[in-house]
Formats: sequence, structure tokens, C-alpha cells
Amino acid sequence: MSDFEETLDPDDWTSSRNLGHQMIDDAIAHLSEMRERPVWQEMPDTVRSFFKSPAPMAPQPLDAVYADLRENLLPYSMGNIHPRFWGWYMGSSNFTGALGDFLAAIDGSNLGGGNTAAAMIDIQVVNWFKELMGFPEDASGTLTSGGSMANMVALNVARNALAGVDVRAEGILGMPQPIRFYASDQVHSCHQKALETLGHGASALTEIESDDHNRISIPALQDAIAKDRANGIKPACIIGTAGTTNTGALDDLVSIAEICRREGIWFHVDGCIGAFLRLAPRHKHLVDGIDQADSIAMDPHKWLHTPFEAGCVLIRDAQRHFGTFEMHGHYLQMQERGLMAGTFLADYGFELSRGFKALKIWMSLKENGVEKLGRLIDQNIEQARYLQQLIAANPKLELVAPVDLNIVCFRYTNGVTDEDRLKELNTEIMLRVQESGLAVPSDTTLDGKHCLRVAINNHRTRRQDLGLFLDTVLHIGAELEGERRANA
Ligand SMILES: *Cc1c(COP(=O)(O)O)cnc(C)c1O
Repeated sequence: MSDFEETLDPDDWTSSRNLGHQMIDDAIAHLSEMRERPVWQEMPDTVRSFFKSPAPMAPQPLDAVYADLRENLLPYSMGNIHPRFWGWYMGSSNFTGALGDFLAAIDGSNLGGGNTAAAMIDIQVVNWFKELMGFPEDASGTLTSGGSMANMVALNVARNALAGVDVRAEGILGMPQPIRFYASDQVHSCHQKALETLGHGASALTEIESDDHNRISIPALQDAIAKDRANGIKPACIIGTAGTTNTGALDDLVSIAEICRREGIWFHVDGCIGAFLRLAPRHKHLVDGIDQADSIAMDPHKWLHTPFEAGCVLIRDAQRHFGTFEMHGHYLQMQERGLMAGTFLADYGFELSRGFKALKIWMSLKENGVEKLGRLIDQNIEQARYLQQLIAANPKLELVAPVDLNIVCFRYTNGVTDEDRLKELNTEIMLRVQESGLAVPSDTTLDGKHCLRVAINNHRTRRQDLGLFLDTVLHIGAELEGERRANA
């Protein structure tokens, strides 16, 4: 046996300190000069091949590792931290959150549980969310990787509550009758994925038609429930969406709550986009009824701009939540004292080892205050309305869906009516805008109409960015029509 014992700690902390300071300086430069850089750019071949080198068997100085990253990583990021990124549905992160991630790793605690200050922070963040959502103090909740996992945890608890059998022991084959989950046809795909994973299959999710504002049709929902009951199927859960991903539509949560109460159905709210509207002074009313839910899924990494990842689920009935996931091996028994005293956080979800993602949320909430974060939500909604007005005022552009929140769906038409040609034209506009580095919109198809989609979930966006973007869309649209004429 060798007397020489190794560690991952550096031999010389001085050079680590200097490099750490350098990284902070570079990070601040990166963020403060963000606006001047392209939102996104294609990686050159040299960068792609850099990431294909074989596993490094021998050491190299951290300075060299970092120098490689400076060159090959940050210039080729997604761009969602840039003021003109509005694609899909992201958040735009924040520096305090990044420091929180760093300090969480320095603390190093495993948030599966344990009698630690880190666990106190995890519990406190969930308690704050309960308070902000109007949930009772004795409700429970857990931080998750994101909204998909938050929704799946809630659907699992709902399923176990309504299964009609001890489903943990018997499995779904022991259930006396099939169960159904209901949501609008705008529901996020993660619910289907969750029901597939939970063993019920996609057919356990009934998608109800939506109205002209893309909200779930309440009469159609009631019909579907009545029909299922008549056919021996048990209605188990209605998923109301507070802010759909396609268009930002807000289901009528008050009516859904009433149906759930009357029918003995679990009321789940997918609030990944909209739950935090509760914080927004001018738009809080859009989620009236959310406080009546049995469970809420939310995504701090969207409208709170927590660096990825951070989701959260709240469950009104803490006992049912605990009863769904509680599990302890012989090697992991709770104690009255010592490090294994208190709440075991892994008893509220699938994962045992858990990261300290609470800290990045906790620090940003404390630093900014809930009120400011709420105002930023209002700001994005008002920016979407501003963009809507610019589009409405321009005859070359067509608004494709009502703007009820912070998502604007529109397309460049300039008199073109053929759907295939419009799709080709707008897809090419989207790609050229992305490749220009000026902005990142994405696209979707609504009622057969392909369109550009601008989801303004970004604390760095200014109105002038939206004007600049529209000018670019119009410019590229005209350019494409010119190319078409030249080729004809
Ligand atoms: C983003 C989103 C999800 C999924 O959340 P992730 O954090 O991406 O896993 C679920 N529902 C809605 C409405 C969303 O917008």
C-alpha cells in the first residue's frame, strides 16, 4: 500500500483563487455585454470537433481547461439569456441564481433529506410558494427538476388517491375500473408522457376541445365526464392549464374547481407558465381559482428566471403526498436526533439524491423581493400587447391567435393566402432571423395555420427589441418575395 494519498483538492489554493476570481470577472463581462452579441450562432466545425476528443486520461491545469471553455462554450449557447430570445418557452436566468448554484455546490449537501440548513432552505422555499399560491400551511410540496416532473408527481398522487385500490401494493391491474384524466386539447405533452410512464397509457388522457381563446370548453368537459361515468370509467382528475404553451391561454379555473368539487374529482393546475401570475399586481386575476386546486405544478425556471433546473409541485393533502412516495431502506432510517432527524425530503418524490436547487431561488427571491418579480411578469404581458399592436397596425402581418398573456402568434402574409406557401415563407423567415443572430422566435401551427411564435418570458427584453425584430421579419419577408420573383 502506498503512503501517498490523493485528494481532489488543489495543491495550491492560490491559483484556484485567482482562476475563480477570473471566472467571476468573465461572467460579469459576459452578462453585461450580452446585448451586443448575437443571440445564437452556428458552431464552426472546429468547435464541434473539439467536443469529440476522447476521455482525458491524464491531468491538465484548470487554467487550460477553462481557456478551452471560454473559446468553445459560451459563444455557442442557446441564447435564452439574451434580451431578444423569445423561442419555445424558456426563462432568462439571472446572476444571483448563478451564484446560488455555485454556493449550493460549495455547501455540497444532498437534499434527499437530513438535518441541515440546506434542507431548511428547501422547505422554506416550498413554504413560500404555498403562501404565494394561497395554499394552507399544512399542505406539502417539493422542488423538482422542472414542470414535467412536477406534473408527474401530482398526477401520481392524484392517481393513487382515486385508484380505488392500494395501487402501491396492487399496481394498476388491481384497479376496479379504468380512470380518466381530462385537459384541453392545448395541454402540454408532458401529461401524456406522465400517464404513459405511470402505466395508464395515452388513452387515459381525454383532450377536450378548446374555445376561440384556446381555453378548455366547460360544456364539452362536463359531457365527457358524464359519458365516461355512464360507461363505467371513473373520472379521476381534471388538469386546468394556467397559461398554455402554444398561446398562453388560461383555462377557467373557477369553473373547473366547481366541477371537481361537485364530482369528487382531483383538481390539478398545470401552472408551469401561469402560476406566478399570482405575484403580478395587474394580472393576478387571470389565475383566480388556482388556490382551490388539489395540486399545482409550477416552474421557477420560467417566469422567476431561476437558472435551469427548478420546478415545484404543491399538494394540498400532505398525507396523500407522503403516502405516495414514502420509502426507506434499512440503510436509511429516520431518527429522533442527529443528522437523520426531521423531514426526509425524498419522501415527496421519485428521486433520492436531490440537488440544492432551493438556494438559487431563495437568494433571488430575497434580493429582488416578490413584488419586483411580479412587476416583471406584468411587464412581459404588456410587451406582448405592444407587439400585438404593432402587428395589428401592419397589413403585411396577420395575428393568428388572441394575445391573452405573453405569447404572440403571427405570420408574414403580404397578401399571400396559400397555406403551404405561407408555411414555407414563415419557416424560412424564422430560420433566417435565428441565423442572423438578431433574435430567436420559434413557430407553431394553430388550427392549420403555421405561424411565428414569440413568447416573451424575459426580464431583459425592451420594447425597442420588439420593434427591431418586426422590422427584420418584414425585411426578410420582402427579400424572400424578391428571391421568388427572381427565380420565377
Ligand atoms: C414548460 C411547460 C411544461 C414542462 O415543464 P419543463 O420544466 O419543461 O419540464 C409543462 N406544462 C406547461 C404548460 C409548460 O409550459
